[in-house]
Parts: sequence; C-alpha cells; structure tokens
Amino acid sequence: MDNCLFCKIIEGKIPSAKVYEDDKVYAFRDINPQAPVHVLLVPKKHYANVCECAREDADLAGYMLKKCADIAESEGLKNGFRLITNNGPDACQSVQHMHLHILGGEQLADRMG
Ligand code: AMP
Repeated sequence: MDNCLFCKIIEGKIPSAKVYEDDKVYAFRDINPQAPVHVLLVPKKHYANVCECAREDADLAGYMLKKCADIAESEGLKNGFRLITNNGPDACQSVQHMHLHILGGEQLADRMG
C-alpha cells in the first residue's frame, strides 16, 4: 500500500525496533510508549483496521491473537497485559494499517477510555 507508514516499516524503508517477525506478521516497539512494554503487532498484508482484517482473513486475525500471547510471554508480561486496537475515528486510530497494541510491564489504569 503506497504511503502507509506501517507498510514502510514492514518493508524496512522506515527504521523500527523489531520484536518479532515471520511471514505473516511484524512486531515492533511503539515510538511513543504508553507503558514500560508497548509493542505493536501488524499483519504484513495491508488491512485498514481490525474489522477489515477479521472479515477478509479470520485465520490471520486469530493467528495474530496467538502471536500476542507469544510476545507477551517473551516480553515477560507474566502478571498480565492489555491488548488494544483502535478502530476508526471515534477511537482515534491514527495509522490506517491494522495494529494491535500490547501494553504491560506495570499496573495499568483501571479506566480504558
Ligand atoms: P493508533 O493511534 O492506534 O493508530 O496507534 C498508532 C501508534 O503508532 C501510536 O501509538 C504511535 O505512537 C505509533 N507510531 C507512529 N509512528 C511510529 C513509528 N515510526 N514507529 C513506531 N511506532 C509508531
């Protein structure tokens, strides 16, 4: 996808702090972390948001949830973590390439919104 920030990160055209990569997904550290651990997990194929991804490739969406579990474990998030995906303008989605935020490493705020 032309002009997509996360497509450029996946292609290595923009640097990122890689956490995990395979043929389907790429994970990297958020540039503006909201917790001690803040990893973004994205599909290599461009989907605008989680709904588009889930509808077009439910297996991939499920695979990404499994990868979140693996990344949380490898990041040492034994005491839990938060998984967020902002979907559309009301949720302040700022990058229009589906991504899951994996947040943890401290006691997170009770209030989410
Ligand atoms: P969202 O607001 O849910 O679309 O999340 C987009 C996330 O991408 C934000 O948490 C940003 O801090 C993060 N972000 C933006 N640019 C970069 C970048 N170049 N490298 C890593 N994370 C980024």
